[in-house]
Amino acid sequence: MQFIDLKTQQSRIRDRIEANIRAVLDHGQYVMGPEIAELERRLAEAAGIRHATACASGTDALLMILMARGIGPGDAVFTTPFTFIATAEVIRLLGAVPVFVDIDPATFNIDPDQLDAAVSGFDPEAAGLTPRAVIPVDLFGLPADYDAVTAVARRHGLFVLEDAAQSFGAAYRGRNAGALGDAAATSFFPAKPLGGYGDGGMCFTDDDALAEALVSIRVHGMGADKYDNVRIGINGRMDTLQAAVLLAKFEIFPEELTRRRAVADRYAEALEGVVVPRVPEGYRSAWAQYSILAETGRHRKAIQDCLAAAGIPFAVYYPIPLHRQTAFRSLGYQEGDFPVTEDCAARILSLPMHPYLEPADQDRIIGAVNGTKC
Ligand SMILES: *Cc1c(COP(=O)(O)O)cnc(C)c1O
Repeated sequence: MQFIDLKTQQSRIRDRIEANIRAVLDHGQYVMGPEIAELERRLAEAAGIRHATACASGTDALLMILMARGIGPGDAVFTTPFTFIATAEVIRLLGAVPVFVDIDPATFNIDPDQLDAAVSGFDPEAAGLTPRAVIPVDLFGLPADYDAVTAVARRHGLFVLEDAAQSFGAAYRGRNAGALGDAAATSFFPAKPLGGYGDGGMCFTDDDALAEALVSIRVHGMGADKYDNVRIGINGRMDTLQAAVLLAKFEIFPEELTRRRAVADRYAEALEGVVVPRVPEGYRSAWAQYSILAETGRHRKAIQDCLAAAGIPFAVYYPIPLHRQTAFRSLGYQEGDFPVTEDCAARILSLPMHPYLEPADQDRIIGAVNGTKC
């Protein structure tokens, strides 16, 4: 059994992937070939947004958007400590300061009330920082509460950057992930719901000027004249070959989302003695991960032992919240600063989740978690 099965998917669409790769080998435009614009067009349409800008990774997508907003030293960016390092890493990389806000235990996403309190209580003079943006993360594929987050952001003049690295294909109150903030970043790392064969990412926005800046930043800050660069950028391009692979995978993506939902529903019906993830009314999850909460850290350990004995893979996302990681020690956070995040980190466990999980395998997983087959 695999935690994420990419082989079955490949066997379904191998011909299409090979044909798309062969087309790139034939035309030879390995950098910014026609597949890039095609992927951008299709994904912008799917997200329901005007501009999609393909790039080299989800991390670059986040970075490029912050760069386009001119975020840097002296700026504060609010985000969650219960996420992958990249979300806060890009803030620090630009010399800005991440300000963490605790999560809602029901969704694992940034708590809008705590965000409101954190922003309202923030003293720019004392901190020597200007609040500029908030990065809500759609953790495990479930969108954050954008109506509430955006209301706070508008009151305080903050830019909303949706970290949709795990949520492409999800929806929130009639809008799609990628279109929930002022801009969004997604990732095509192989383990994400829409994963390629290597690294890749995409920026989304309805803002024409922002999209224009992203196109420039993606290629060293280029201007209209190829040799007059108008700003500092990066080499953030997606490879044409990666776009070719993603175009093949995108054809079966809607069906895969449906299959993921069926797997999630089956887990929710059968799992006992643990807290299962609940999708609030009006939300749709992309089910990047299926993460349960055990009663205690000890209970989690017992489940892990049982899964391991049965040869079932599992993962803990995330064992160390960002405010407790060595790289952010200089920010001065302490244990206990974000109790909900710390409690979840101690009890959370992610089970195998992919579109091709067989019912018989899922029954074995359920048996091991429920402790009936240990
Ligand atoms: C995967 C991920 C990223 C980074 O994406 P890469 O493509 O790996 O650079 C950023 N944020 C979150 C929440 C992620 O899960």
